[in-house]
Amino acid sequence: MTRSSSIASQPHAAYTAETNPYEAMMKRFDVAAAKLELDPGLYKILRTPVREVTVSIPVALDNGHLEVFTGYRVLHNIARGPGKGGIRYAPTVTIEEVKALAAWMTWKCAVANIPFGGAKGGVICDPSRLSLGELERITRRYTAEIMDMLGPEKDVPAPDMNTNEQTMAWIMDTYSMHVRHTVTAVVTGKPVALCGSRGRREATGRGIMLIAREAAKKRKMKLKGARVVVQGFGNVGSIGAELMEAHGAKIVGVSDIRCGLFNKAGINMKKLLQYGAKHKFIEGFPGAGKVSNSELLELPCDILVPAATENQITSENAGQIKAKIIVEGANGPTTAEADAILNAKGVLVVPDILANAGGVTVSYFEWVQDRMGWFWKESEVNERLEDILVASFYDVDEMARSHKVNMRIGAYMLGMSRVAQNTKTRGIYA
Ligand code: GLU
Repeated sequence: MTRSSSIASQPHAAYTAETNPYEAMMKRFDVAAAKLELDPGLYKILRTPVREVTVSIPVALDNGHLEVFTGYRVLHNIARGPGKGGIRYAPTVTIEEVKALAAWMTWKCAVANIPFGGAKGGVICDPSRLSLGELERITRRYTAEIMDMLGPEKDVPAPDMNTNEQTMAWIMDTYSMHVRHTVTAVVTGKPVALCGSRGRREATGRGIMLIAREAAKKRKMKLKGARVVVQGFGNVGSIGAELMEAHGAKIVGVSDIRCGLFNKAGINMKKLLQYGAKHKFIEGFPGAGKVSNSELLELPCDILVPAATENQITSENAGQIKAKIIVEGANGPTTAEADAILNAKGVLVVPDILANAGGVTVSYFEWVQDRMGWFWKESEVNERLEDILVASFYDVDEMARSHKVNMRIGAYMLGMSRVAQNTKTRGIYA
């Protein structure tokens, strides 16, 4: 097999200074550290990952050939508890990205005030070109390779881009086979029947709806009647859109990986979800007109939810964005350069580490339920999720207002100050 035909890696466009995710994280980190007047020693500790691991994942493909994939797991910080964070499968995965995502998990868990540190994993692969069996073998070998890092008290993975409940079930099983007993709390986002939590699948989307509701209040608007555009129709975007519509919002634009749809009068989410389930993509849906991905982001609307991937709102298109509120469903969808432009325009940006914290919050509930062996009703999960997210929204708002910074820097300051406080109180082991 030649190098160019390999499915284990794809050429990845080099990042620019604006789009490198780790740099994007550090730019905000530096601003927040200065505002907090963070001790220089703590600055070094907080920015540095505890551990970065790269593993080779040899796998037998269905065609009989052997392939070697590359996987990463980065444990960023454990001052507040075990590492926590998803695993993504994509051809575009890089160590820079996984490092940034791991740090974002640290700040996210601290903003939500749940007892976890931050971690993230990724495998460079293209799931659309892999069979279920190949994905299972990749997952099991990757798990075996990072096995020593994992555990309910050490580092607890979860789904992220292109991974799901099935992936988590394989990880749980592989880990359990190695330790010779079933350990359900080693991953979250499992199927409900396999000790997953009710409401976990919907949690990130539900969080988007709750945060959009609070952000609208802050802007003296209402979610009811608001015109919403959602970029990305995966787990976060589709469920977020459906729940916002259920709370009275009008979803005027949506997109998936192939195309964007627009209808000024609103797109019926139930029908679109049915169409998407049947056709795999939303292209061709009769209830809306077609727009490009870049047009979608610039559509006239009240609330824009980028729920696809990193670097979607940049210095190139931020000036054309018409939304009054941006609720970040994806991690890192807005660059630091775009932040400055949106700030100057008066757009309220609710940052990823607050806006999409619903997922990890219910992951925390799943971990608690697994350790208790006692499972909650969906209404209890949703009620506790709402309590945590609404409290986090106002904690961030308070931090931002008292330091005269935007919500992004306010969220970093809140998360970083909580981690710094724990680090200081624990002291440095020597
Ligand atoms: N991958 C999700 C995130 O970025 C969820 C992480 C988790 O539940 O641990 O927040």
